[in-house]
Amino acid sequence: MPKNTKYIFVLGSVLSGLGKGIVTSAIAKNFQVRNKKATIVKIDPYLNIDAGTMNPMEHGETFVTDDGGELDEDFGHYERFLGEPMSRKQNITTGQIYYSVIQKERRGEYLGKTVQVVPHVIDEILLRFKEIEETSKSDIMMVEVGGTIGDIESQPFLEAIRQLHMNIPEENSLFVLVTYVPYPRHISEHKTKPTQHSVRELRASGLVPDLIICRSEVPIDTKTLQKIAFFCDVEREAVLDLPDLSSVFEAPQLLDSQEISHLLSKKLQLSLDTPDWSSLESLLNQHKKINGKLIIGIPGKYTDLVDSYISVNEALKHAALKFGWNVELRHYATEDFESNPENIAKLNEVDGILVPGGFGDRGTEGKIAAIQYSRRENIPFLGICLGFQLAVVEYARNVIGLAGASSTEISESTPYPVVCLQEEQKDIKNKGGTMRLGSYPITLKEGTKIAELYGSLEINERHRHRYEINENYFNQLQDGNLIFTGFYSHLLETLELSNHSYFMGVQYHPEFKSTPWKPSPPYEGLIKAAIQRSTGRKSA
Ligand code: GLN
Repeated sequence: MPKNTKYIFVLGSVLSGLGKGIVTSAIAKNFQVRNKKATIVKIDPYLNIDAGTMNPMEHGETFVTDDGGELDEDFGHYERFLGEPMSRKQNITTGQIYYSVIQKERRGEYLGKTVQVVPHVIDEILLRFKEIEETSKSDIMMVEVGGTIGDIESQPFLEAIRQLHMNIPEENSLFVLVTYVPYPRHISEHKTKPTQHSVRELRASGLVPDLIICRSEVPIDTKTLQKIAFFCDVEREAVLDLPDLSSVFEAPQLLDSQEISHLLSKKLQLSLDTPDWSSLESLLNQHKKINGKLIIGIPGKYTDLVDSYISVNEALKHAALKFGWNVELRHYATEDFESNPENIAKLNEVDGILVPGGFGDRGTEGKIAAIQYSRRENIPFLGICLGFQLAVVEYARNVIGLAGASSTEISESTPYPVVCLQEEQKDIKNKGGTMRLGSYPITLKEGTKIAELYGSLEINERHRHRYEINENYFNQLQDGNLIFTGFYSHLLETLELSNHSYFMGVQYHPEFKSTPWKPSPPYEGLIKAAIQRSTGRKSA
């Protein structure tokens, strides 16, 4: 029996950064609350095999899945909205497609043929769709195409989609166009021309939108929506308005209020149950009950692009929301602490400090200074991955007295390599996909703060790093105040200080598993301690 999979393609027009990932998640959520499962595939038309080798300043965060995928940050939105783990197989890049085609060519699988974009690259894309369709247990496949209509690099994907659309029954595919409708202040009205041009461009690729979702800073009036419908040749009710929202989690219901389910079921000939919005609604109600604001300081390197740490930012918000607080994130460029050590005192204004993950040595001394400041001033602290490793470096130098202690990532000639490569990492030359990646089981020590936060001694968390705490310093570092509290085999995964309000370091990235419904325990610990500091300061 052939599967009757319904394909929904989500394309973006006019500009990037429209929140296509949010729109895709919000549509998938509309299925989920109606007991239908949608698998989401994201296409990234760049030549990297995955997002692991890209600069977060350019591309945003690299999101890590349980199965060790280093994926586009949109996967974070998908998981946070749906509460389901995604797989590396769901992220297709041009790099993967070409890599596979070239390998086939070398093996002689196209022997005698001229290997070309049409048909070989297109067929490879179609093959990937087919594989995911066959292995996924869902009725709906959503395919979000990265980039913007008109990009040269997404052309092969659009052609593959056109062919797929042609070869399946009409009711098995639907095209969603996410567009930007600008509102120039000096004329105070929405402008539809960029959308009209994009639709024309899309039609030139042989694709026609069924649904247009309009993004704008402010709500769009009915007359303008009518105009878009008329000039883009779609029904009026198929043009939906999605202005900026105070919480992205309002998006699913905003689409629902414009009858998206009716449009989806009509076009796809799909019967949909009445929705159960209760868990989303209780979340949105929590937003309304917020009574205070915490300031969390993030000393880091990528301070310019908020998206570099998007999962960290979200995890902090999730944990704060649970206790009825908002968070204001203050990013500090750690190089400022290096150029003028007095700047470190700025951190006194925060309620908690989080030192996130990172690579390379730029700004690390400033991060170490920030960690020392939180330790000495008893400011709640959470160190993630590099932040954890640097907490060990700081403690080794300033408490244990190992002058010049460091990580070999920062200084190969350090006299005390308290963070270093494991044997199995030493011979690895290729940088792509070779870190310790994905979910590993961790055993926590009974009676510790971290075990209390997780409420369990066996946990699973996601990793993305190459260096480890050097176990040769295990005894020397544990001076009675510092305790290593979590282990995977012989590797040291977590630490805490017993003489501090909250000082926690974790080798893994707990933010990747945080959702608003289930905040991450180490983040919850930080927020609880930050609330105490904030309320203590106010009453002092
Ligand atoms: N650079 C460090 C390592 O590779 C930490 C990585 C991270 O913070 N994700 O081990």
